[in-house]
Parts: sequence; structure tokens; C-alpha cells
Amino acid sequence: MSKVKVIPCSGIGKVFGLMARESALKVTNELKPNETETVCLAHIVTGDEDSKSKIEGFPCITIDGCPKLCAAKNAELAGGIVKMQYRTVDEMRNHRGVDAGTATALTPDGWKVVDELCEKICEKVDDILKEEK
Ligand code: SF4
Repeated sequence: MSKVKVIPCSGIGKVFGLMARESALKVTNELKPNETETVCLAHIVTGDEDSKSKIEGFPCITIDGCPKLCAAKNAELAGGIVKMQYRTVDEMRNHRGVDAGTATALTPDGWKVVDELCEKICEKVDDILKEEK
């Protein structure tokens, strides 16, 4: 079984990028380590062959910080099959007024938003793997 690639954008300077990275790490390291893996977006963008071979033709879930969709666009350009695109800025819309933290640290409320997003990502991973069977 090939692992679903969970790819966050590399946004820095705002909390949204941190939320994207923390979500990807939580899913790939803690929640679904046997079913998912992450790939470094910077390597994908620079055309690194090893990273390209990891995503070309494989199902990917991308997590971007904002509507520029850097992870989704570059995963597609590298031949990844983007099954779902998440944007942390959208997740925050469901939690108006919540202080999620800063570019370098999430608050407990920020972690709650990340945990909710992780649940959705895990459900999507299960769906993708069912489809692949
Ligand atoms: S999607 Fe937005 S936050 Fe993420 S790297 Fe691109 S511009 Fe930055």
C-alpha cells in the first residue's frame, strides 16, 4: 500500500503556515504514521528528483495557509494527484475571534483548531485508501 502524501505549505511569518505544518506533522507522525508521509515542499518546488518520485502519480492531501495554495499547486505541477486541498485560513473562519497564536507558537485554542483539521484529514486519508483497494 502506498502512503498518502500530506504536504503543508511553507508559509512563515503568520500563524496560518504554522497551523498547516503542525497539522501535517501530527497526522504523519502521530495519527497515521503507517498510512501517510510528508514531503518537503521546498524540495518539490526545486525539482528534487527524489521528492518528485515520491509524489508523482500518488494521492496527496495539501494543507495551505492561504488562498495562494502553494502546496496544492506545486504538488500538482510535480505530478501528484491532489485529492483534497485544505486551507488553515478557512478553518479559522469556523472559529472567529479565536486567538490561535503567532507564527512561532500555537495557543491551546490554536491546537484545538489544528486537532479538528487533523480529524478531517484522517477521515480523508481513510476514504482515499478505501478507494485505492
Ligand atoms: S499558501 Fe500562502 S501561507 Fe502558504 S506558503 Fe503560499 S503564500 Fe505562504
